[in-house]
Amino acid sequence: MTLADRRILVIGGGFSGMSAAIDCARRGARVDLVEIDPGWRNYGAGISLGGATLRAFRQLGILEAFLAHGNASDGVRICLPHGPQVAELPTPRIAGPEVPGGGAIMRTVLSRILADATRAAGVSVHLGRTVQTLEQDADGVSVQFDNGVRSRFDLVIGADGLYSRTRTMLFPEAPVPRYSGQAVWRAVLPRPPEVQTATMWIGPRVKPGVNPVSATEMYLFITEPRPLNDRVDPSEFVPRLRALLEPFTAPVLQQVRDQIGPDSQIVFRPLEGLLMPRPWSKGRVVLIGDAVHATTPHLASGACIGIEDALVLAEELSRHAEPTVALAAFEARRWDRCRMVVENSFRLGEIEIAGGDKDEHARIMRESLMALAQPI
Ligand SMILES: Cc1cc2nc3c(=O)[nH]c(=O)nc-3n(C[C@H](O)[C@H](O)[C@H](O)COP(=O)(O)OP(=O)(O)OC[C@H]3O[C@@H](n4cnc5c(N)ncnc54)[C@H](O)[C@@H]3O)c2cc1C
Repeated sequence: MTLADRRILVIGGGFSGMSAAIDCARRGARVDLVEIDPGWRNYGAGISLGGATLRAFRQLGILEAFLAHGNASDGVRICLPHGPQVAELPTPRIAGPEVPGGGAIMRTVLSRILADATRAAGVSVHLGRTVQTLEQDADGVSVQFDNGVRSRFDLVIGADGLYSRTRTMLFPEAPVPRYSGQAVWRAVLPRPPEVQTATMWIGPRVKPGVNPVSATEMYLFITEPRPLNDRVDPSEFVPRLRALLEPFTAPVLQQVRDQIGPDSQIVFRPLEGLLMPRPWSKGRVVLIGDAVHATTPHLASGACIGIEDALVLAEELSRHAEPTVALAAFEARRWDRCRMVVENSFRLGEIEIAGGDKDEHARIMRESLMALAQPI
């Protein structure tokens, strides 16, 4: 059996699921994608992307669209709370000598680019739909959808995110997401001319940063230690965000602080993570993306490793006639890299919460970025 003969179901239309659908369809598989949200929405300001993500975009065929609608830049500037720059983390040009080593884009824009590519690849997209049951035998998977329809697939890819129901169906004993003790605030603001690339200000325990998402806009992110995973009422968003920035006297941050208002698209999100122990598949059902390795955003690499999963999975499925052999090969290629991202990101968060060793923080950042530059 080659990939061209296969019928594949993807559960979840986030970045990982769409990427898997695109690459499998382009390699000749007949792909259906079910997404539970009838509006296929993606929430939350901008998303930062490293060179490895841009390399994955190139492989997926969406790099040009990203460069047209997002922002690419080199280096990450590290500054003191009152403004002076103390370091610049190099971001190697992994996607090619002509492509900057990182960037950012609005999440809604990246989602639209991927959704267009998904449909263009010939994937059958079913919105507002999910799976009720999965039953496997040696030859395939029988799937019962929530509208009562039953269909048969050669392979099912669970890409339904941090709270994956596919994971629970497959592995009822799987670990549950763990709260990290930190939350992140994000907002969208006009881009001042001096913000040329990702820039962070390292406070004792709070870390604000900005990253341009286009020629005219940037997004602001601020990590804050919060011992309890509690809710913040939206009426408190603007004053709370301004208060977090108050000790940061860097002129650009004070300007940002003054601009924060009810129209700043503020999103508050407690940070949770999960690293699913191996195996990541059972028979002909495999999990990818946040469903198995949800990372906190300290290395800006969660979307990257989910999209890479999709590329590696499609490659191994084209390479091996037997799906279970392909799934074992996929997992062997992905485990170390994904574990590194989740564990190092979590450690960076721990250091920030404790106001810990800045040298260790910088070393982990540097080593992780170098590891991410390796081929997948
Ligand atoms: C605050 C925050 C900031 C982040 N910042 C960055 C960053 O700067 N850079 C970066 O690379 N990464 C970042 N990440 C991580 C990144 O957002 C995720 O790793 C990535 O979105 C995961 O994609 P996914 O497709 O695996 O899962 P998801 O994005 O969760 O997508 C899952 C999809 O499945 C659908 N779904 C769920 N259940 C079902 C069901 N039962 N049936 C059908 N469909 C279902 C959902 O509606 C959704 O569309 C950040 C994460 C957080 C929390």
